[in-house]
Amino acid sequence: MPSPKIVILGTGGTIAGQADASTQGVGYRAGQITVEGLIGAVPDLPQIAAGRTGAVLQAQQLAQIDSKDMDWSVWRSLLQAVSEGLADASVQALLITHGTDTLEETAWLLHAVLQPHKPVVLTCAMRPATSLQADGPQNLRDAVAVAAAGRAGVWVVAAGEVHAASEVLKVHPYRLNALRSYEGGPCACVEEGLVRWLVSEPVMQQAWTPEQLQALLARHDLPWVEVLQSGALQGRRAVHALLAAGVQGLVIEATGNATVHLDLQRALNAARSQGVKVWRSTRCLEGRPVGQGVVAENADDAIAARLAVAVDAQELDCVLLPPSKARVAMMLELARNS
Ligand code: ASP
Repeated sequence: MPSPKIVILGTGGTIAGQADASTQGVGYRAGQITVEGLIGAVPDLPQIAAGRTGAVLQAQQLAQIDSKDMDWSVWRSLLQAVSEGLADASVQALLITHGTDTLEETAWLLHAVLQPHKPVVLTCAMRPATSLQADGPQNLRDAVAVAAAGRAGVWVVAAGEVHAASEVLKVHPYRLNALRSYEGGPCACVEEGLVRWLVSEPVMQQAWTPEQLQALLARHDLPWVEVLQSGALQGRRAVHALLAAGVQGLVIEATGNATVHLDLQRALNAARSQGVKVWRSTRCLEGRPVGQGVVAENADDAIAARLAVAVDAQELDCVLLPPSKARVAMMLELARNS
């Protein structure tokens, strides 16, 4: 029987970045080195991949971008490639090299749409490959160890930690351990090539059906959703401008326990009555809105919760996701229902 495969999809990022000098940790060019080049920089990667199943590595360059510039065409190729890998019995796991800037959104997209029954592991770096402090090779080695370990789900591996797609956020612009799980700690640690899980196996929800996925991949773009912050002096003008420009959904990065400035709230109520979807999230970095009645972990649950709970017509729906992921969740919900 042929060896199972761990497929590594390269998309660019700092992990594939190059600077003019090895002392340069900023001001480099992201997305320069091929995925084969990244694999070649880790001497024992084939042995780590082989693990208990004898898996072999297979590389595919899907894109070569700075992830701050992530667009629908790269997301679409990624969804396509990962869903094909999940359906291919010879593929044991998939791994994606990615920039850190929008990693939390890509991880959420793959998690929300695919609910994979195999490991889908994303990894990244905070220093370019040319740096004295290059963290990409170790992160890639750890990510392959997580892929070989076989636990299903979308995982983000960096700085020796494994984060769940639903929890991970970029919390620092420079330090090597720039990613953190929203409120809680990581799901696992990788130590000398061994994965030590700190949480039990996650329960998968319903993935999108093949028909829904095909309809999503056939789209030229995702619905337009913006994040707007509520805060001191925050009024209605941004809402009016966005409505005039045709925005389809708004995620409010609300204050504290998902509270919204009165003037903004009035404009949002009017927007909602015009058919624009509006959700509240919180701008607090830790914790989640409490006692809001209409709260949910993800878009599907949000719909169920809205049906189940009688709400004040003035109250805006509230999600338990941070704004970056809530925006992706809303784009997906609008896409699925249009
Ligand atoms: N701007 C880079 C990117 O997201 C940052 C990184 O990879 O750390 O691609």
